[in-house]
Amino acid sequence: MMPFTYERVETPEQAARASARTPGSRFIAGGTNLLDLMKLGIESPAHLIDVNGLKLNQIEPAANGGLRIGALVRNTDLASDMRIRRDYGVLSRALLAGASGQLRNRATTAGNLLQRTRCPYFYDINQPCNKRSPGSGCSALDGVSRQHAVIGVSATCIATHPSDMAVAMRLLDASIETVRGDGKKRVIPIADLYRLPGTEAHVDTALEPGELITAVTLPAPIGGTHVYRKVRDRASYAFALISVAMIVLRDGTGRVALGGVAHKPWRMESAELELPRGGSAVVRTLLADARPTDQNAFKLPLSERTIDAALSQAKGA
Ligand code: SF4
Repeated sequence: MMPFTYERVETPEQAARASARTPGSRFIAGGTNLLDLMKLGIESPAHLIDVNGLKLNQIEPAANGGLRIGALVRNTDLASDMRIRRDYGVLSRALLAGASGQLRNRATTAGNLLQRTRCPYFYDINQPCNKRSPGSGCSALDGVSRQHAVIGVSATCIATHPSDMAVAMRLLDASIETVRGDGKKRVIPIADLYRLPGTEAHVDTALEPGELITAVTLPAPIGGTHVYRKVRDRASYAFALISVAMIVLRDGTGRVALGGVAHKPWRMESAELELPRGGSAVVRTLLADARPTDQNAFKLPLSERTIDAALSQAKGA
């Protein structure tokens, strides 16, 4: 591990200022992803800014009738909050489908959103990887790609985003509150937070360097039956081959988002109009531009079947 300096901060503005004056710095809270990346030599920040003291660990009513979730709320606390379980069940279920109990106790809301891909080549510093080392190539394109993305891919990168929580937040139309290095605040719809790899696979999100997530706001609850189904290679502590977040309303309409298929949670409102007609109709629109590899083409029929299973579950069948 490379040497680094370390400081604790007490306000978001202090954190942003510290980041702006120290190029190459990173924020650290739960550290469940960043520390691994540092130990493996994938990330080597010159300076760590510990944000655990920022008092951003509350879940409060929001002015829009929804909930404002502090960036430092731990995944376990968010999943078990009675308001989340009652009104945003898909979020609680997605959280509980992710990682392990120990990791959820430590991982924060903002950290979960910003965790990096689990592409195995990204974690192997002996392999070319455009996300880790821009311009070096993508080992997954001619390698093992069973877990990788089928849509929104580029010739530069076919990685997926690993978060379950983000898929549910995309379904719920969450908004991300941030403070930038110059102290200015902004709100980013989660639909605009993540970017596709394009020619810059190393850039995961629309955040600027040093921009700090301070909270996530959920809109007022929309009711309906909430389902999160995750298909993976083993029953726990594994990332999704695909996942389906779904809300079905009383009239049979609803929302659906997929995880495990793209560099970001994948949702298209036009595909949701097909929900009453089942998984095959939804996937025909939602994954119309899919470009799978030979090894992960199974994700398309698997998406259809998992959407159908989620629909049956929502209807109590
Ligand atoms: Fe790297 Fe992306 Fe290729 Fe994986 S898919 S090796 S993360 S460039």
